[in-house]
Amino acid sequence: MAFTLNAYPVVYRAKYAAGAWTEEYLEKPHKTPAEEAALSERERRELEASRNVYADMPLVSYTSQYGLSVFEGLKALPQKDGSLAVFRPDRNAERFHNSMRGLRMPPFPKDAFVAACVETVRRNAELGFVTRYKTEWEKDSYMNADSVYIRPFTYSEGGIGVGLSKEPWVVVVCTPVSAYFVPGLSGAITSKRIRATANGTGWIKAASNYVVSAIAKQEAAEAGYMECVFLDAAERKYVEEGSSCNIFFSLKSGELVTPELGDTILPGITRASIIELARERGVAVSERKIGIEEALDETKECFVSGTAAGATPIESLTHDGKKAVFNGGTTGELTASIRDTLKGIQYGALRDTKGWMVKVR
Ligand code: PMP
Repeated sequence: MAFTLNAYPVVYRAKYAAGAWTEEYLEKPHKTPAEEAALSERERRELEASRNVYADMPLVSYTSQYGLSVFEGLKALPQKDGSLAVFRPDRNAERFHNSMRGLRMPPFPKDAFVAACVETVRRNAELGFVTRYKTEWEKDSYMNADSVYIRPFTYSEGGIGVGLSKEPWVVVVCTPVSAYFVPGLSGAITSKRIRATANGTGWIKAASNYVVSAIAKQEAAEAGYMECVFLDAAERKYVEEGSSCNIFFSLKSGELVTPELGDTILPGITRASIIELARERGVAVSERKIGIEEALDETKECFVSGTAAGATPIESLTHDGKKAVFNGGTTGELTASIRDTLKGIQYGALRDTKGWMVKVR
């Protein structure tokens, strides 16, 4: 299933005007989950489309014309004990706040962000739209488990000249999501494209950043790879990140390296969580520059990290016609153990000693 636009009916919306945010929850057209499951493909698509219409929002806006929008992506996960919880929404709240400030919008309060994410999921769960925990997910370390993808984003007021948004909306929609990366197709290739430059918006989760990412990812897919890897713009030498994920290299020396943050890399919440988990188990983690040659020659295991990716092994990396295969093309021990710990915490199979999970219900 991966990502779908089959959004759940309850949507949160806040609007900034006259110095204050006004909040509301909208209940878009829906039937019961059982009735919706029984619809024909065409009926389901029509219902889905009707949920994605907002007659009172302007078509011509700084968002639709110039890509002036920031967004977030986080998950609510069914817990082994039957409850439902969101993974580290406070961190997404913080990044959303920073992103909005980065594009010079009035920032959305962090506590309102967390409350909106939790409450939107809760209201959809009340209507029966959220999958329950299944024990069978444990068999393959939750690789095929379902969850709720939460997508908060900004949308600008109407505007046609190049300009900034002074009175944005913040919208939170939720969709069902399952495995994003296809197992068995996990090679990566460097892209000739440039995603971000110094003094640009690479560190912001800005909609406009994803235009180059989408092109580069499509080019990688056409060449038979799952993911593209961006190099730095200045020297075309250092590894930065993937199209929608950060990247880790476990070197033969034992060092676990991930590119250091700066203004060209998105500070991933999964990245930060993995660094913490790896350090706790005594792995020497470095956040530093890593050249593509070093990555190709010295890597034992490689994986990408993100809300959608979790910790997904990368079986090979290709650059300029040179292909390095990692760990014989199979999932390495460190990658598997980090993935299992992360998923275990996220699905409530392991104890959440860090307070990362925020209960929905
Ligand atoms: N880099 C980019 C460009 C991304 O889009 C994402 C996904 N949000 C990530 C990294 C990973 O971030 P996170 O772990 O917070 O999902």
